[in-house]
Amino acid sequence: MLVIMKSNATDEEIEAVCRKIESLGYRAHPIPGSTRTAVGITGNQGPVEAAALESMPGVAECIPVSKPYKLVLREIKEETTIIDLGDGVRIGGKELAIIAGPCAVENREQTKTIAASVAAAGARLFRGGAYKPRTSPYSFQGLAEDGLKILDEVRSEFGLKIVTEAIDVENLELVERYSDIIQIGARNMQNYSLLKRAGKSHRPVLLKRGISATLDELLMAAEYILSEGNYNVILCERGIRTFADHTRNTLDLSVIPAVQRISHLPILVDPSHGTGRREKVLPLSRAAIAVGADGLMIEVHHRPEDALSDGYQSIKPPEFLQLMKEIRQIAAVLGRTVAPAPES
Ligand code: PEP
Ligand code: MN
Repeated sequence: MLVIMKSNATDEEIEAVCRKIESLGYRAHPIPGSTRTAVGITGNQGPVEAAALESMPGVAECIPVSKPYKLVLREIKEETTIIDLGDGVRIGGKELAIIAGPCAVENREQTKTIAASVAAAGARLFRGGAYKPRTSPYSFQGLAEDGLKILDEVRSEFGLKIVTEAIDVENLELVERYSDIIQIGARNMQNYSLLKRAGKSHRPVLLKRGISATLDELLMAAEYILSEGNYNVILCERGIRTFADHTRNTLDLSVIPAVQRISHLPILVDPSHGTGRREKVLPLSRAAIAVGADGLMIEVHHRPEDALSDGYQSIKPPEFLQLMKEIRQIAAVLGRTVAPAPES
């Protein structure tokens, strides 16, 4: 159930409602919106008795929720959640969030060369895995903490916000320390202990869609994180597995408006993993912005032929610059913006 507070409800009234919910043995989640606060209730096995709450001061109405997820719903918060990372970098607002960088942090020189190029093109967020979930146990597994330290240097030298993946509960704490956003990858979308641990983090979480996950399953995975008290979740469509054999995955752009209708969470598109082929990244990036995504995650490598992972889907810095130019034009049509390249 959701308790919708009146637009003029006071902080004390909201607090009293939360206390009442907790006294019934449930968990209260006050979610402020631009016009009013809604309080989500979790922890109840059956329906919550509305009468006790409806009569409290400041309460406008109580709405029963029939869906299996609650806190991700637009009913609780009309406007899209904006994740504020500081220094003017936001995800979910008018400015599109462009996350770019190599698949993996391979070494200091490689990482900084790529960071310099994506920053110069206008990206404000940098990606790079220090822990890599690889299909083969013999493939490069990432530099672990040494990689995180290189990312830390990238943040201070280039002013980029850092997005990097935690692949298990054990390394989440380290990732949390060095990152601005914790990525949970497709393979881990239903790793419920990892989702719960991420829900206790103070860092925003980028949650990628599993390769065979339905929309409901994606939203349920996000709900795990929110239900633990972390409301800063960003969804990411990264392609699903289908019978199509002209592409690594099938990038499901139709999920973007579907998510946006149901949920207040921002959603990004990753056309690199979504297609698996360098030449498809630019066209699918254009399409992702046109369909209304809140931004992109793009793999960039200055020497993709030597990349330790995902070289065949990594675009080179000049191609990334071109991509940024084109999506700036598409964004403008939709009333959105892309950060300018620093020198322009
Ligand atoms: C990645 O972003 O490098 C990655 C491993 O992505 P995914 O989890 O979508 O496969
Ligand atoms: Mn990759």
